[in-house]
Amino acid sequence: MTLSTQLLNWYYENARDLPWRKDKDAYKIWVSEIMLQQTRVEAVKDYYQRWIERFPTLEVLAEASEQEVLKYWQGLGYYTRARNLLAGVREVCATYGGEMPNDERTIQRLPGVGEYTAGAIASIAYDRRTPAIDGNVLRIFSRLFCLDGDITKQATKREVDHLVRQHMPYNCPGDFNQALMDLGATVCIPRNPRCQMCPLANLCEGYAREVQDTLPVRPVKKEPLLIHLAAGLVLRDGQYLVRRRPERGLLAGMWEFPTVELTEKRFAVESLKEGLQNEFGQEATVGKREFHYIHTFSHRKWDISFYHCQWFAGSELLEGVRWLSSTEGNPLPWAGPHHKVALALGLA
Ligand code: SF4
Repeated sequence: MTLSTQLLNWYYENARDLPWRKDKDAYKIWVSEIMLQQTRVEAVKDYYQRWIERFPTLEVLAEASEQEVLKYWQGLGYYTRARNLLAGVREVCATYGGEMPNDERTIQRLPGVGEYTAGAIASIAYDRRTPAIDGNVLRIFSRLFCLDGDITKQATKREVDHLVRQHMPYNCPGDFNQALMDLGATVCIPRNPRCQMCPLANLCEGYAREVQDTLPVRPVKKEPLLIHLAAGLVLRDGQYLVRRRPERGLLAGMWEFPTVELTEKRFAVESLKEGLQNEFGQEATVGKREFHYIHTFSHRKWDISFYHCQWFAGSELLEGVRWLSSTEGNPLPWAGPHHKVALALGLA
């Protein structure tokens, strides 16, 4: 039997039951694939259900405001994904009359859609014979064919692309891609691959040579940069001072308590007091530390402390800064650990 037959036979018996597999709607596949980038399947399921209930079609999503979209994305992280998805569906409505294009090259021109996502959408929704190569596929093929090239390098990616195209069937390319996704998620997992139960074990060079645990080859990961921050929970008449983050950069457009970056952690109180004056035009006494979190992003790590602050004077607020009370419900998308604090204070 060929590699694809063995893989597909296994897939038809063992496919995961996932909410976005109920039909072959390109928009739904798009949403699920974007949510699944950097996020575990189990974590995505609930977000996906809520998202599809609120935005069942790309036209409905295209009409929504960015703030509402960010709210529905809140907690998934990497918010540029949500912004790009919104820009993408708007482009489909404006340029293609609301009809998703069906070829991978056109799909790949949409904002935030890379080669992998375009391949997944085109193959699953439209049976296009195109690979969807992500970390899972790079790992599986590195092991199957004992590839010793670094999988972050273009040359190795091209080699894997070539091998996937060679083995991809003509009649059900979408199933083949999904079978690889499932194999990578449940059998050929990053550590301790379950070779004993693998449908491709008899074809796997890595397994035959007992080097599967050493593959794929990748460069040593850099530690994320540690940044110390102090945030003020500035209270005035039952309202807290909050600000919208800049339109560009990390957590762009999300809301947070006024925050300053610390050059020296031991001067947190003084730096926060100064920051409130200089950056926000507000005077407050800085009291005790109420919360402390370590929050890791892909390239940086926040060590952030939240201090209770009592407002006593201040000038007019700058644009993007406002007072927020718990009686307003839950109106804002929050940035990272600020969401936990907002929840604890009844602001989210
Ligand atoms: S035999 Fe092992 S290493 Fe090879 S593809 Fe299967 S799970 Fe991966």
